[in-house]
Order: sequence, then C-alpha cells, then structure tokens
Amino acid sequence: MPNKTIYIREEDMSVFENAQKMGKDSISAIVTSALRDYVAKEEEKNKGEQESAQLLDSILAKAASVHASDIHIQPMRKGSSVRFRVDGVLRESDPLTPQQHNAVMASCKHLAGQDGGENMLLQGKIQSLEIAGRKIDMRVCIVPSILGECVTMRILETEATLPDVAQLEVQGEHAAQLTQLAAKPFGAILVSGPTGCGKTSTIYSMLKQIDRSHQKVMTVEDPVEYIIERCVQIPLTTLPGSTFPGVLRTILGSDPDVIFVGEIRDKETALICMEAACTGHLVFSLLHAHAAPAALLRLIHIGIEPFLVRDAVIGIVGQRLVRCLCKECKTRDNASYRQLELERYIESGIQLFKAVGCKKCGQSGYKGRTALFEVLLPSSEVQQAIMRGVAEDELNKIAHKEGMKTLLEDGLDKAARGYTSVSEVLRVMQGNISA
Ligand SMILES: [Zn+2]
Repeated sequence: MPNKTIYIREEDMSVFENAQKMGKDSISAIVTSALRDYVAKEEEKNKGEQESAQLLDSILAKAASVHASDIHIQPMRKGSSVRFRVDGVLRESDPLTPQQHNAVMASCKHLAGQDGGENMLLQGKIQSLEIAGRKIDMRVCIVPSILGECVTMRILETEATLPDVAQLEVQGEHAAQLTQLAAKPFGAILVSGPTGCGKTSTIYSMLKQIDRSHQKVMTVEDPVEYIIERCVQIPLTTLPGSTFPGVLRTILGSDPDVIFVGEIRDKETALICMEAACTGHLVFSLLHAHAAPAALLRLIHIGIEPFLVRDAVIGIVGQRLVRCLCKECKTRDNASYRQLELERYIESGIQLFKAVGCKKCGQSGYKGRTALFEVLLPSSEVQQAIMRGVAEDELNKIAHKEGMKTLLEDGLDKAARGYTSVSEVLRVMQGNISA
C-alpha cells in the first residue's frame, strides 16, 4: 500500500498521542472509535427524544379520548400531576415522574418552537398536530413555579367544530332571539358572563349567520381562536403595542358593516363601540358581568352616557355553561329543594335527576355541556329606566316583568327536563340564586 503524507494540526496531535498510549496505533482506529462513540451518543439522544415525543403523544391521545379542552401538567413535591379540563372541570390523569416531566416539557417547547430556556414565561402555538386522527392547533403556556415548570396546553377548535346556535341546544325562544339579533342592520349586541362560559362561541355562531358575501365583517380579537370564512379577523397579539381602541379606529376606516370587538374592558373601547353602533354598524362584543341587566349598567359605570347606551344597545345576552347529565348513569333525584327556595321555579311532581358516574363519563356523572341564556332586549320601559339611573335590582324586576327568563330559570328548566342536575345549575350560578 503506497504511503500518503497527511498533516495533523498540533492540537490534534495530543489526541493521537494519547490514543497511541492506549494501544491504538493507527489514525483509522482512532477515527473508527470516535465515530462509534458519536453514533452511539446520537442514537441514545434520538431514542430519548423519541421516547419524550411518544410520552407527549400518549398524554394528548388520552386528552382527546375524553374530549378535554385543556391539559395541565404541574410539578408536585413528588412527581407531576396531569389533569384534563373536561366540560369545564379538571380531572386527574396518570402522574409523571420527574424524568418524564422534564422529557414532556422539552417536547412541548420543541414543538412550540421555543427550544431551550428554563424558568421563563413562554407562550407559543403548536400547529397542525395530529391527535387521534384529527388535526388540531394548540396554544402552549409555560410558567415557572417554585416546584418547577408548569405547562398548560389549550386545544384550539377549528371552524368545523364550532357550534352554531342550534347546536348549542339553545331553547326555541332563545335561539329565535339570537337569530333575530344577528339579522339586525345596526346596533350593539353584547354577550356577558364569566371567562370560559362560551361567550365567544355564541358570538361566532351569530357571525356565521350573517350574509358575509354581501356584508363586510371585521373583528379584532385577543387572540383569534377560530377562523371564519370571509371575515377579516385581526389578532391583537400580533400587533405590538396595539390596543383595542387603536385597531378599532383603523377598522372603522375600512368600511365594515359588522364589527366584533373581542372585549370591552375600558371606557374608550366602549365609547367607540357605542358610537359605531349608532352610525350604522352592527357591533358585537363581550363584557364581563354576571347577568344581562348588570352588563347594561356596567357600560354606564365605566363612563358611557346613559343616552348613548339607550340609543346603541339592541340586545344583551347573559350566558353560562352547565354540564349535561350522563344519559347512561343519571338517576332519580328525590331531594327536596324547599330549603333553597327553589320550589317556586320547579313545578311539583316534576322528576329531577342527579349525577352518579360510570365508565362512559369517567365517573363524573356528566358528559358534554349546554348553554344557559338570558336575553334582554331593551324595551322603551327598560330604556327609560336606564335614563332614570335605576339600580340593578329594579332593572332585573322590569326585565323579568317583560318576560326575560333569567339564567337561573333557564337552568332549572333544563334540570326539570332532565338535561342537567339542580346541583350543577347551583354550582354554576353560585351567588346568583336570588336572581
Ligand atoms: Zn355516566
């Protein structure tokens, strides 16, 4: 074999000399051994990554099988808890060891494009992930806690899975009211309720009813969670330094017919919405308030003139979500509701049901959810009351006298029809029993 001259850098000579001392006398033996070590390390790394990905996949598959909306992984003193939010309530799943926790965290960060960095606040999106045969997007949020990093993964629904008014099992009268409101040419329609009560779904279901071929629909949302065809949807989060009022003013210069403003949080946003509603736009928005009459008064409390509220608002919807009883295991509820003063709401002789729990509902006794509504359509009497500056109690009385069914009445009516239990309605309506 002919000899070849090769040059070795000085720093590499030490490696060569060390290898010679260990009995490896040729460069090929050194390189082969180094390559073998490298391949073994890579294989181990890949195997570790694969196992982490498989672990995350199995958690996602479990979450999908129980139709969870969110996955919460939280380190404890020993290991980590994994919980799924199903029908609005957290449910325990199998815990993780600290090693498994770290592996899952690494996979989450990798998928969200947020590799590296510990003990930081992270927010990212995982797009087009396949779980149990369906493609979904997820929003990932990581926060450092004293015991380690916690991750929350929200499964984002797509338009295909978005409920329309009919699917929300809106009672006949409420479905008709929401449909009529969505057909109005202008005015402000507000949906109120606590976080996670399905307010956005209700607005989307109304936006879907609008003829978007002949009307320009624009939204500003924080963030956009569902895509609707022929809607100009602007995510506030992608415009650094932007605020609802700032984007709203730009939107109004784009000749819209219908506007959806993600949330009214301050006077400025409220004022632009009310003025837009009075100048020929149909304006939808969300407002944090516990009931429809309270939402109407909240606009005045944040500084809107009563006459503007009177002229602009054409409908206010109060909303809650209650869990539906599992049809497989619900049983007769023979409790007396006399002590809760609920008898005036529930006709005597009506058979009520309560939750039990079986395999099909994960022992919770409930499966799926339905919405409770109250819809206030301001009549001239309600409008006069606004101008008089009435208190909430009086406004409630007027609305009730005019036929508005309250959230509690709607809930107990659904309990009387066997959809849900009285205890579930009270859980959701806590604090509002006198309504
Ligand atoms: Zn069941």
